[in-house]
Amino acid sequence: MAKKLKRRTTIVQAGIGSDPAYHDVIPPLHLSSTFKIDGIEKKGPYEYSRTRNPTRDILAEAITTLEGGANACITSSGMAAITLMLQLLKPGDLLVAPFDCYGRAYKLIQTLADKGHFKLKFADLYSSEGLDDAFSKPPRMVFIESPSNPVMRTSDIADICKRAKKHDALVAVDNTFLSPILQQPLALGADLVIHSTTKFLNGHSDVVSGAVVTKTNELWEELDFWSNSMGLIGAPFDSYMVLRGMRTLELRINRAQENAGTIAEMLAAHPAIKTIYYPGLPSDSNHAIAKKQQEGFGAMLSFELKGGLEAARQFVEAVEIFSLAQSLGGTESLLCHPATMTHVAMGEKARAEAGVTDGLLRLSIGIEHVDDLMDDLNAALIQASAKAA
Ligand SMILES: *Cc1c(COP(=O)(O)O)cnc(C)c1O
Repeated sequence: MAKKLKRRTTIVQAGIGSDPAYHDVIPPLHLSSTFKIDGIEKKGPYEYSRTRNPTRDILAEAITTLEGGANACITSSGMAAITLMLQLLKPGDLLVAPFDCYGRAYKLIQTLADKGHFKLKFADLYSSEGLDDAFSKPPRMVFIESPSNPVMRTSDIADICKRAKKHDALVAVDNTFLSPILQQPLALGADLVIHSTTKFLNGHSDVVSGAVVTKTNELWEELDFWSNSMGLIGAPFDSYMVLRGMRTLELRINRAQENAGTIAEMLAAHPAIKTIYYPGLPSDSNHAIAKKQQEGFGAMLSFELKGGLEAARQFVEAVEIFSLAQSLGGTESLLCHPATMTHVAMGEKARAEAGVTDGLLRLSIGIEHVDDLMDDLNAALIQASAKAA
């Protein structure tokens, strides 16, 4: 097909009618660990499912198309995707990573650096002084998470890529919070895109999985060697589920984002709220850069209550529709207390530096009717401020 299709069409159409055996409209789930070969030196396209699997391949192609990459590796989790990406580094190479990155990623790279796998600098990738410092020694790889979790700091991806290119450094962007519908890191100059497909791409909170998309085929070949050799692969069933969920990605993220925008405006004007972090608000310090490089502001936001930890405690017990749970990006709305949940592994000192206070709450806005979500939040805010006062 010569014509370039719109993104939504490419996901809805991924693998449709491509089954060579029975012409299934929906690509079938291939669970087989191994594939029959016609004879010596008569190999087919598939031999063994750790190396290559048809269901996983269709998902890889779909995510690659969405991100505008050359190819992708599908992994068993977002953390496995980060682990795979780190195989591109050797001892002595410098990795620059954000000081406020995803708690488990923070702990992983810190521990591997302590063991001598590579050199590491945690940097402030959000200010020009921070960036000058980040590039004071030539890095081999720069890892970006934008917007960052949970306070939604936004890095200028194109600027960081330009600086990295001067040193021939690779740039990897964790695009989990926005998905390829709202942000296209490869088009902004990045070399690798990381996803926890557990979140928006699958979108139904029933799979843990990940992906690395590469800009070039050479990078993919190197990662493909490591994924096959280290067994950093996604299961066929999980791949089937993620592909199924992804078909509605654009519809889901657009509705969730619309809800989030309405909720953010309500929270920003609420007397019980001390600070709100949502780059979609014109008053947010990240608004300009988010507007420049994103196609939307997403469905994640966080806020701090005036009553601090005690008010947060009351609030999480008062909500009825929002579930207090880790993770994000599902159809259902979730509420998280980062200091005791997602960001425990970081430790108190790093949490304080990252702005993850004890009173901070993070919302993953779902696709429910916005009126019901607003009523739930408003009722909880009244209870929380009454009890904390
Ligand atoms: C969840 C998450 C990860 C880790 O992904 P898993 O699928 O849980 O292993 C990495 N980065 C970000 C931004 C995440 O939200």
